[in-house]
Amino acid sequence: MKSKRKKSGSIKAGWPKTVDPSSYFDERKDDLVECIRQLVEIESPSDNKQAADRLGAFLAEKFEALGGKPRFHKSASVGDHLQVDFAGRRGDNPVLLLGHFDTVYPLGTLANMPCQVSEGRLWGPGVLDMKSGIALMLTAIDVLRASHSDLPHSITVLLVSDEEVGSDSSRHITESLAKQSAAVLVLEPSYGLHGAVKTARKGVGEYIVKVTGKAAHSGLDFEKGASAIVEMAKQITNISQMIDMKRGLTLNVGLVQGGTRVNVIPAEATAVLDVRIAKMKDATAIDRKLRALKPFNRKCRLEIDGGMNRPPMERTAGVATLFEKASEIAKRLGWKLEEAAVGGGSDGNLTAGLGIPTLDGLGGVGEGAHATHESILVSELPRRAALVTGLIEEIWRTSL
Ligand SMILES: [Zn+2]
Repeated sequence: MKSKRKKSGSIKAGWPKTVDPSSYFDERKDDLVECIRQLVEIESPSDNKQAADRLGAFLAEKFEALGGKPRFHKSASVGDHLQVDFAGRRGDNPVLLLGHFDTVYPLGTLANMPCQVSEGRLWGPGVLDMKSGIALMLTAIDVLRASHSDLPHSITVLLVSDEEVGSDSSRHITESLAKQSAAVLVLEPSYGLHGAVKTARKGVGEYIVKVTGKAAHSGLDFEKGASAIVEMAKQITNISQMIDMKRGLTLNVGLVQGGTRVNVIPAEATAVLDVRIAKMKDATAIDRKLRALKPFNRKCRLEIDGGMNRPPMERTAGVATLFEKASEIAKRLGWKLEEAAVGGGSDGNLTAGLGIPTLDGLGGVGEGAHATHESILVSELPRRAALVTGLIEEIWRTSL
């Protein structure tokens, strides 16, 4: 890539020849804000199919207006997942722009969290995670179309509606499209207020531990009972000892339930665990350890269910190359792009897990994802748009 680049220091190198990114993307800032506002104001909680479908239909129209061919992957339980194909002149592997349009916010959240601009930020439910990312996709495609009469290479957009609830229904679509792609750019929020992209993400799993003991009257028959809660307490201590911070391996017992009445020795207790791994090979090890748990009290029975949901996104050579390309583009724009390894998973984990070069966290810059102060920095929008546009061009130019 370096050898091909002109030494002139021309800021235009690496993206559409006719585009001067320093002013071009600045001029689009207000349109971007308006587009994000439209998307935020169509609420789309993961668990409300009707609401999510409303936004899906709106997005399909937006992408179609840019020349894309939308199609829905139907789902009975969650919103239909939206795929949009932009065919290039050459029939080579597309760049996959990946994201989701569901949010964690229930319908009606806008009443208390209105979408508005103040203090240089745009605020609102899902503005960072990840409706600004979708608006950046639209802008990048629009710019690429404006600077080429036809797109020279293909782009596929995949926006799923169940990312916030584990991507069960969309996973196979994401994986099959990734396998046909040259690279995957994930427009999830960037990391921190400097806008670092994500080059490593932890893998995520969920396990359910169920203890069955023996009920008895706590006054009359104390010795006949076997407390599932006491057993669970010991198991939780045991599970906590599996944590290995140095390896990036964490287990969080996030939910515990048990018992029926205060004067009954509890016959049942359940715990739900969130497991995070930084390395793929820890998946089998931790699975084996959890399934090998034995009851301390022989009158109690243990059942372990669950498994890893998303593999870790490791910083492979393909990931590193994409990051280098992105850093070069940022440098030409006069800023330094940082990278980060984070604990949260996304659908980028799925595509990276298949060995497809993936760069995540290319979306909006802000803070407060999933929280009442969710917001993005408006001033960062132009250069994020320039970065995504330039990166698509760069992938087309160098790896196809
Ligand atoms: Zn997200």
